[in-house]
Amino acid sequence: MLMKTIVVTGGAGFLGSNLCQRLLNDGNKVICIDNFYTGRMENIQQLLLDNNFALIRHDIEEKITIDDKIDEIFNLACPASPPHYQKSPTKTIKTNVIGMINMLELANKHRAKILQASTSEVYGDPIVHPQPESYRGNVNPIGIRACYDEGKRCAETLCFDYNREFGTQIKVIRIFNTYGPNMDPKDGRVVSNFILQALNNEDITIYGDGKQTRSFCYVDDLIEGMIRMMGSEDSFYGPVNIGNPVEFTMLELAEKVINLTNSKSKLIYFPLPADDPTQRKPIITLAKEKLKWNPKIQLDEGLDYMIYYFLHRQ
Ligand code: NAD
Ligand code: UDP
Repeated sequence: MLMKTIVVTGGAGFLGSNLCQRLLNDGNKVICIDNFYTGRMENIQQLLLDNNFALIRHDIEEKITIDDKIDEIFNLACPASPPHYQKSPTKTIKTNVIGMINMLELANKHRAKILQASTSEVYGDPIVHPQPESYRGNVNPIGIRACYDEGKRCAETLCFDYNREFGTQIKVIRIFNTYGPNMDPKDGRVVSNFILQALNNEDITIYGDGKQTRSFCYVDDLIEGMIRMMGSEDSFYGPVNIGNPVEFTMLELAEKVINLTNSKSKLIYFPLPADDPTQRKPIITLAKEKLKWNPKIQLDEGLDYMIYYFLHRQ
């Protein structure tokens, strides 16, 4: 296969570092752009030993020029965990909007394809359940999640407007909750929180009554979906849902984690954060049809891999 030069923004983060590794394994040159807002050097330590990997420490809110001819851009730069993206909400919006414009401009300059890592959060607290791509969502535009939700919605708009106005080659995926190795144990997301708490026999922190649902995708499945989307026919822009459609309550997740770790942890309840979606589950018919993609790793197996990862990195 032809060697491509591929930019990954957010390449030192959880998904980005897994993607960079996969792209290198596939024989590509990878340029990682990251400002280390939530990214970690340890995620890319191994990758830095590879001559085909380059790191540019840069904030995508600032314009960038790259001399090498770029073939593809995966735009993942943006904190994904609620405590992180809510820490500086205006920065989150700027990353999503100004950063998206800068990356679309970079794509235009190189005539490169660009894939935007959008999110199931564009559906907000969904009234339609499960969610098809045609659902336009239920987002509170002035709530504490809006910096992320509306930022990502605007980023999608920018992709489609750049495509219509300038012919930019775009690909938009809507990622549903994904977990796996290289997640920052302290980043506050539910799977990492529960596993660490269970391994340390600490109380498991349930927000709300724990009956809210999510559908969890293992990272390898997600990355496969991303790569397939980038390689899909030029006329397919998305948006396409990428996620595992098996739905769990947070109580069910806690029970699984306790059992898999043989933990003595008890459940402890905290108030549900504002605008926390009550239910979430993707319809993935489009991904199956257009990308021939289907997630293969179910939650018990994926949790086992994640537990192993946390046990061996501590
Ligand atoms: P993460 O926080 O681990 O990684 C984000 C990376 O982006 C970090 O390395 C961070 O330092 C970098 N970054 C943030 N702002 C930046 C900026 N202005 N300039 C340059 N780099 C910047 O999060 P993740 O889980 O790996 O998510 C990656 C992408 O996927 C995000 O865009 C996120 O919105 C999207 N996504 C993830 C999930 C999920 O479940 N993991 C779900 C939906 C969407
Ligand atoms: N959650 C929880 N305990 C935690 C962390 C999260 O009960 O320690 C809940 C959170 O309120 C939400 C769900 O788990 O309902 C998923 O949270 P996460 O932050 O992982 O993802 P998101 O809310 O962005 O889907």
